[in-house]
Amino acid sequence: MAGYDLHTHTVMSDGTTTIEDNVRVAVELGLEGLGVTDHDTTEPFVRARAAAEGTGLELVLGTEFSAEHDGSSVHVLGYWVDPADQPLQDEMDRLRNERFRRAEEIVAKFHGLGIDVPFARVQELAGEAPIGRPHIAKAVVETGAVSEMQEVFDRYLADGGPAYVPKYAVDPVAAVELIRGAGGVAVLAHPALYSARSRDDGTRGLDDDLVEAMAAAGMAGIEAHHPVHTDEERARYADLAVGLGLEVTAGSDFHGEAKDLALGEATTTRDVVERLRAHRPS
Ligand code: AMP
Ligand code: FE
Ligand code: FE
Ligand code: ZN
Repeated sequence: MAGYDLHTHTVMSDGTTTIEDNVRVAVELGLEGLGVTDHDTTEPFVRARAAAEGTGLELVLGTEFSAEHDGSSVHVLGYWVDPADQPLQDEMDRLRNERFRRAEEIVAKFHGLGIDVPFARVQELAGEAPIGRPHIAKAVVETGAVSEMQEVFDRYLADGGPAYVPKYAVDPVAAVELIRGAGGVAVLAHPALYSARSRDDGTRGLDDDLVEAMAAAGMAGIEAHHPVHTDEERARYADLAVGLGLEVTAGSDFHGEAKDLALGEATTTRDVVERLRAHRPS
């Protein structure tokens, strides 16, 4: 299988596989390259390099940075960021602390809603990873109050839901600037999957004006080809990217068993990866 899967997660954020597992699967599939994009961390870089050594697999080391706009999450992929960049690390540390505090608040909201999810169990499920809503959803399912994780999101935890607590995060334009400041290349992740308020016409996804502002700040691409996007959404965001002179990328957003997405199910060609690389600030 040719190409680069530019979007994958591990246990260092909310995936269930290790970086060694992901590298092994990528090599078995014959991928040319693998994007290492755990949420708000550059922790996997060292182990990723060790695992890929001698395999011929090219790593595109990065992070999926959490930004926030109008109370809903916006994820910005930052490829080739320098893990030693202090402003980026400071913001990721701050986010991690913020996630802990926010998880305590969300758990308190569940208690208020009559669901006694133990915070200690949430922490245990997160392990080394920054605590995210999926860890909390899993702990809620374990209480038996709700049968499936998706139902926990639909009823309580989706953006704007009764147990939702926004996290203070930088806005998407600042995220692009932070990534570029760290020597990286910014790509908007899964643009159609943001939908705090669904539109009257039933469509979902980030508004053009925000995407345009991110492009003006130096964003290099849009992940129009995400496995969960519909054909119409892929076309809409690919057209928007082309119109703004941005690259169109693809990635699986593999999360191990946490989501029904397979590593390698969406790939970006080498040409596009080379053009993205050329966007690295000098
Ligand atoms: P957090 O970073 O803690 O806000 O959690 C974000 C993660 O929660 C996303 O990456 C998804 O995995 C999951 N998530 C957010 N909203 C939903 C939703 N409506 N349905 C299913 N999963 C969701
Ligand atoms: Fe995730
Ligand atoms: Fe994401
Ligand atoms: Zn992701």
